Amino acid sequence: MAVIVNDAWTMDEGATRVRALFEQYFAAQPTAIHSAPGRVNVIGEHTDYNGGFALPMALPHRTFAAVRQRGDRIVRLVSAQESGVREVNLDDIDTHDSNNPVDGWPAYVVGVAWALEQAGHGPLPGLDIAIDSCVPFGAGLSSSAALECAVAAAWDSLVPMGADGARLLDSDEGRARLVSACVQAENEIAGAPTGGMDQAASLRCVEGHVILLDCRDQSVQHIPFDLAAVDTELLVTDTRAPHALADGQYARRRNACESAARALGVSLLVELSDDVDWSKLTEEETKRVRHVTREIHRTLAFVRVLERADLTADALRELGQLMDESHESLRYDYEVTCPELDTSVEVARANGAYGARMTGGGFGGSSIALVPTDAVDTVMEAIVEAFDKSGFNEPHFLRASPSAPAQ
Ligand code: ADP
Ligand code: MG
Repeated sequence: MAVIVNDAWTMDEGATRVRALFEQYFAAQPTAIHSAPGRVNVIGEHTDYNGGFALPMALPHRTFAAVRQRGDRIVRLVSAQESGVREVNLDDIDTHDSNNPVDGWPAYVVGVAWALEQAGHGPLPGLDIAIDSCVPFGAGLSSSAALECAVAAAWDSLVPMGADGARLLDSDEGRARLVSACVQAENEIAGAPTGGMDQAASLRCVEGHVILLDCRDQSVQHIPFDLAAVDTELLVTDTRAPHALADGQYARRRNACESAARALGVSLLVELSDDVDWSKLTEEETKRVRHVTREIHRTLAFVRVLERADLTADALRELGQLMDESHESLRYDYEVTCPELDTSVEVARANGAYGARMTGGGFGGSSIALVPTDAVDTVMEAIVEAFDKSGFNEPHFLRASPSAPAQ
């Protein structure tokens, strides 16, 4: 059975593709090309909006944006992943709740300009923009953040927004401000709730490292994660499961966490001490809180293993164990997995992975497995076979190494 591996484009390949798309639609040369990566969260799931910790890294898979500044406030956009040319006037943008929202994918792009202007960085010029990407859509690998962060990099380079003519991109503090604008764009203009981990990973990561993101104050710590040095890989399985049941489930989980926090007298679940008064919670809240509090501990435990010393086989087994526990907690306490995710992690473990878990929001999307390089082919083949037997969609695989941030 065929194994489909979704390889990342090189920087040159991405730039060539997006330049050709620009020239085809706008009959001119772009003046700059920017790009930003998708991300995979290694551990720390559904903790971001609870003020906890997440441990994402940037994928080698990126979204590319070719741009040319215009003399007016119009943004014309074309994407290789969508049909037609769209046009939005930056003066017409209104929030998603208003009567005048921007429809569809352009909201992720012009929303960034809107948010930057809200933060005092305007007025921004209109742009012609062509987009192309090898980050799979809706696979839990943050194609939306990759898109936002690539265009944020473009506007920041055209109209440097830092102090003394520097770009925000030039410092981590500036990048954190771009993160806020991208989050606001997605929440308020695209109308999709996001906790901010995706954009932080895309803008603030460092090659060869995971970032420990403290979601309470948005501080980050870069931690080396050199799997190649120990002949190990993070294998991503894009399950390509239909997302149909996910509607409203993210909001429902968030609401349960918020009501539990209120019942327990804290503003965020991260503030809970070890002795939680479980009698104050409903059964649903109890399960959700159990996941969040334990997942925060697991994330910090994972980091302690990474910081301890070399990634020996024992250390890799410990990491794998934490990933396994994370998945079981997301399956039984947070209830956000699905048969495709459960099957992919079970099969990975049975075929030589140190550990495996779903990643991203859940209800479809992707799983990750920590796999010795010489077992990767076996694991991929076994997953393809198991999916075929179960009548699931054919999975796609990505081989992930911690990659470079938006530029
Ligand atoms: P994920 O971020 O997990 O991939 P989302 O649902 O958050 O999934 O974001 C996917 C949406 O982002 C797409 O439906 C589309 O609107 C927009 N998007 C992402 N990448 C592109 C792209 N290359 N071209 C056009 N739109 C894109
Ligand atoms: Mg997204």
